Formats: sequence, C-alpha cells, structure tokens
Amino acid sequence: MKNKLKKALAKLLDGLFPPKCACCGALLSSSVSAFCPDCYREFAAARLLPCRHCGKETMHCTCCNDTLVASGIYRVAKVCPYYPERDASPELGLIFAMKRKNVKAYFRFAAREMAAAVRRMGGADGSTVTFVPRRPSSVSLYGFDHARVLALMIAEELDLPFEETFYRSAGASEQKGLTRKERRKNASSTILPVNGLTATGKRYLICDDILTTGSSLSSCASILTALGATELRAVVFAARG
Ligand SMILES: [Zn+2]
Ligand SMILES: [Zn+2]
Repeated sequence: MKNKLKKALAKLLDGLFPPKCACCGALLSSSVSAFCPDCYREFAAARLLPCRHCGKETMHCTCCNDTLVASGIYRVAKVCPYYPERDASPELGLIFAMKRKNVKAYFRFAAREMAAAVRRMGGADGSTVTFVPRRPSSVSLYGFDHARVLALMIAEELDLPFEETFYRSAGASEQKGLTRKERRKNASSTILPVNGLTATGKRYLICDDILTTGSSLSSCASILTALGATELRAVVFAARG
C-alpha cells in the first residue's frame, strides 16, 4: 500500500514538474533516466573511453594514482571519464545539475550507475558507505550537500550501511584552480573527522562525484586509516581521463 501511494505521488509530481534531461533540458517521458535518448547515447559511449593508465574502458577501470595508493585506497570504481574541456558533455551536465538542484531522478540515476560500477569492481560487502563532504559555503548556497545525497542513495542501492564521517572546516577554499601541491595542503587542512568517529576494524566505501588529483579522497582515506579502518575502496562518477 505504502509503495502504491509512493508511486502515485511520484507520478503526480512528474506530471506537475516533468523531469528534464540533465544535459540538454529536453522534457523526459519518465523519471527513470537523467538523460534524453540522445544524451544517454553520448553518456553511454563516454563510459567506454579508455583509461590512460590501464587502457581498460573507464567503466571497467579501477586503477588508482600514487596519492590514493599512499593513503590506503587501492581500487576506485568509476562510471565515466572526466574531461573538463567537455563541459557540454552529458556527464558534466549531470554533475553540475546535482550540485545545484536536488532532483531525485538525477541522483537515483547517478547512484545506480555508481552502484553498478562498485559491483563490477567486485562489490563492497561489509563496507560502510561514506562521502567526501562539500565546502560549507557550497552547502549553504545550494541548501544541501550533493555528495551526501548521492552516498545515501548508493548505500541504499548496495544495501550497505551509511555513515557521515567527515566535515569541512569553514575556511575551506575551492579546490578548482589550485596546483596539485596546493590542493593536497588545502584538502588535508580542511577535511576533518566528525566528533567521536571510530573506524577500528571497519571497511569503508568512500563516494565522490569527480576524481582529479585524488587529494580530497586521500585526505579522507588517511583519516580513516589513522583511526583503524582495515579496508578502503572508493567510487566516483567521473575520473580524470
Ligand atoms: Zn538531452
Ligand atoms: Zn585505469
């Protein structure tokens, strides 16, 4: 009964506010996808672009750079590559849309893609899902932390527990535009464990939207490792190609 009611409500809301393609803005016929058929095709093709390091299709690549390995992350599941110059691409359209608007269909679509990537990596059984937090300025601007919303849905998709493990100090500045060294310093000085966090003997799956240098993810990983976590994996939507 509850499900029936939920479905009816979703249908009603779709009728009042029909979902739009996260990339081109075309009206969608249902809320099961974030893209119109054309944008979906382009997105699906992007997932197959090869990883520069291992040569595998991005959706099958789990390789990590030195920064991640040094912090204890040996496998990162990915959905598609990140090319900042492809700023009109469906994948970036979806990421920007999720940052600004809390549209459930967009998050559900991204969470399903990311959960599928985790399964391709061999799953994350026994792990707790957590996320790389946004800057407080971004959270107060948009009213929510899209990484948190995404991580909650990924946990639901994978039937794993969710835990909020980190926060960012108020002085955190934007990572964009900083050099690799500055990013590492900025990230490590601003990502902090929540009060009373214990990770002894635990496994974690850390979620983030974009992986570039890996500095934010590795800061999170270093904290969890220092607190006794035994295994760390990560999943991102787009990784630098
Ligand atoms: Zn479209
Ligand atoms: Zn690779």
